[in-house]
Amino acid sequence: MAKKSKLLTFLVSFLCFVLGAVIGTGALLWHTLPDSYEIPEKKSVTHSHAVAGEINVNTVKEQDLSIHFLELGNKYTGDCTLIKVGDTEMLIDAGSKASSIPAIQSYLNTYVEGDLDYVVVTHAHEDHYAGFATNESTESLFDLNTVKNIIDFGDGTNKTLSNKMYANYIRERNAEVAAGADYHSAIDYVNNISAEITQRFELKAGSGVYVEMLYHKYLGGGMDAETENDYSVCLQIVYQNKYYLFTGDLEAEGEESLVEENAAGRRNAGMLHEVEVYKAGHHGSKTSSTETLMNVIKPKVVCVCCCAGSSEYTSKNENQFPTQIFINNVYKSNPNAKIYVTTLCVDYKANKYTSFNGNIVITAKEGVTDTTIHCSKSAVDLYNTEWFKANRTLPEIA
Ligand SMILES: [Zn+2]
Repeated sequence: MAKKSKLLTFLVSFLCFVLGAVIGTGALLWHTLPDSYEIPEKKSVTHSHAVAGEINVNTVKEQDLSIHFLELGNKYTGDCTLIKVGDTEMLIDAGSKASSIPAIQSYLNTYVEGDLDYVVVTHAHEDHYAGFATNESTESLFDLNTVKNIIDFGDGTNKTLSNKMYANYIRERNAEVAAGADYHSAIDYVNNISAEITQRFELKAGSGVYVEMLYHKYLGGGMDAETENDYSVCLQIVYQNKYYLFTGDLEAEGEESLVEENAAGRRNAGMLHEVEVYKAGHHGSKTSSTETLMNVIKPKVVCVCCCAGSSEYTSKNENQFPTQIFINNVYKSNPNAKIYVTTLCVDYKANKYTSFNGNIVITAKEGVTDTTIHCSKSAVDLYNTEWFKANRTLPEIA
């Protein structure tokens, strides 16, 4: 009888303990979760998850960091990326044509609070700087926004003022500087020319989000490049030990130099890392995202700014953005990488295009380990799309 009673006491105590633990943990979670908390989906191998549908502006503004890859309002491939940390914003490039300006400005009106803190212009190609390089009768993004800091390619260009669009850019940039903007070429930042102009700087004071300007031999015209693309300003965002890499339209030679100059024993040793997000260099061209670069950065998430499958640059299917060689190189460096693409070409000649993933917004928040990818249209990653199945294949891995 005594034995039986002991067992009963033990069982009751044990049940109480388990019940207490469950209630206690629940209460703890209840108290620590903010109102807007979303239960994360089961972690994937890439520790990222994508959500589709209209992007909630307030949800995005509550994040510590958001990176936006924009659709450009036309059938042309081009780059435009907005980075937002609190009320501080950085706009990298504004392609694809002057006709993209309304789409870009409408987006800026939604997300930019106060002045536009930084504009980065990676290189002097229309699909990257059209929005800044308008003729005098069209308002440029410099006319439409108050920009505090302009960072560009400086002397890293083969263009001269005899080139109409380049002359337009210089005129518009100079006007913004005359209106109060601070201007430096990216090489000034890399060379740490003053206490304010440094290779690594915090995007917003106290945010813990850093910008690192990356050196390669063509930056700022250090060496003559055969292609304008190889002058591209490259930078990465660093937050919570995650890296987000932007290389403009850097091609094979530029990428080789980027890897070399940031390798052990070089002046920028250790700056290149495996990255959480990589903006596909040169829109997923066959001449960029080389194995040399991919093997170092092994991206987990790749965002391609392009009008997929368009004949704008070539009629050869496998070389249309995003190219088969690009797919091969990304996949071989990380078979678990997820690729997202802004826009899809429907019929180039008939001027028909549609959103692919649409505007793509990557968000990060302190304490949240997963990377969230918000897509204004589909959240299906490239490998699982009908377009991919009809036009691309996955390479065999040796
Ligand atoms: Zn481009």
